Amino acid sequence: MNLKKGFTLVELMVVLMVISLLAANVAIQAVVRNRQTAEDAACTQARRQIQEAELFYFGDKGVHSIGLSDLVDSGYLLSLPECPNKGVYAWIPYPANSPSYQSILGCSIHTGAEALTSLGSTFTEISQGFIDFINAYYATNGNYPRNGWKNALRDLGLDVDEWADGINGIIYRPKSGTLLIKPDSGYSLTVDRASGSTITVSGNKKLIYSASDDKWYYQRIRPNNEVNMSTFQVINP
Ligand SMILES: [Zn+2]
Repeated sequence: MNLKKGFTLVELMVVLMVISLLAANVAIQAVVRNRQTAEDAACTQARRQIQEAELFYFGDKGVHSIGLSDLVDSGYLLSLPECPNKGVYAWIPYPANSPSYQSILGCSIHTGAEALTSLGSTFTEISQGFIDFINAYYATNGNYPRNGWKNALRDLGLDVDEWADGINGIIYRPKSGTLLIKPDSGYSLTVDRASGSTITVSGNKKLIYSASDDKWYYQRIRPNNEVNMSTFQVINP
């Protein structure tokens, strides 16, 4: 081989190696990109299935599902579709109180959408999250968390700072075997009594969830004060 005019053999080999490495790199990038596209698409498809199930659920019942597993439990999905990359699904906050509040599902990986709180974004997600924590605490310890809301949060393993302020107009306060919710300043809440008439919850008034009978009440836990939370609404200032 006569390479005197241009490259030595070693130089030529180095050039060929570099070229093959570059080619391999491009091929790997293409594979990675294809896989990402496929996983994006699978995630989008999974979220679309859940959104459609929620739409039917709301159409039939007039209220939103309580957590995604509710869609499976009530027969609107055979099983819960999941993100191929183990992203966490949460409803994206959308004009609060509108019927479309649970219409867009976000993925922590593929849409960059984050739930508003560690228990979810909507009232149904958050209140059900608290109720699940209170029931789990009782099942483990045989008694309910402490009375003061900060100590109750600590007993439940939740972050005191996260719950100090209201979320979308609602202040959440766990207390022993109950969850109290109050309107944030400037907001009010409305709900129908079990008997039908509508109550406005404003100022220091509250609604109380009682874990012992799995019911919601206005101000005090007694039969006449039971409310129907499927009629619950937050009134913006
Ligand atoms: Zn995803």
